[in-house]
Amino acid sequence: MSLPDSELPRTEDEWRVRLSPAEFRVLREHGTEPAWTGEYVDTKTPGMYRCRACGAELYPSDTKFDSHCGWPSFDDAIPGAIKEIEDNSLGMSRTEIRCARCDSHLGHVFRGEGFTPKDTRHCVNSLSIRLDPNDA
Ligand SMILES: [Zn+2]
Repeated sequence: MSLPDSELPRTEDEWRVRLSPAEFRVLREHGTEPAWTGEYVDTKTPGMYRCRACGAELYPSDTKFDSHCGWPSFDDAIPGAIKEIEDNSLGMSRTEIRCARCDSHLGHVFRGEGFTPKDTRHCVNSLSIRLDPNDA
């Protein structure tokens, strides 16, 4: 499921041929899919959410919760799987989250909203992740 290091793209042109145009726009150009359009907004299926670009494990499905914000939301991630970057674009001070392995854009992280006991919301584009369902 996970791309071997030797096959990880090194350039944006290499990513472009691997990803669909919509995936490339989000993962490599920091785009955002429209709210409520992503395939995983309401998904409850148990499994592991992986980076759609490189296959790295990011979010176990038991960290997913209903935030009613229109994007898949998680209150925790696999340790070390995510890196955070200050994002002051669009006149807002936010914290961008990226896959630590391949540097692809996932979404933003928000804290202090009180949704869950962990008080953290990883707001992630469905296009940035792929669910690997548990075997029954
Ligand atoms: Zn990745």
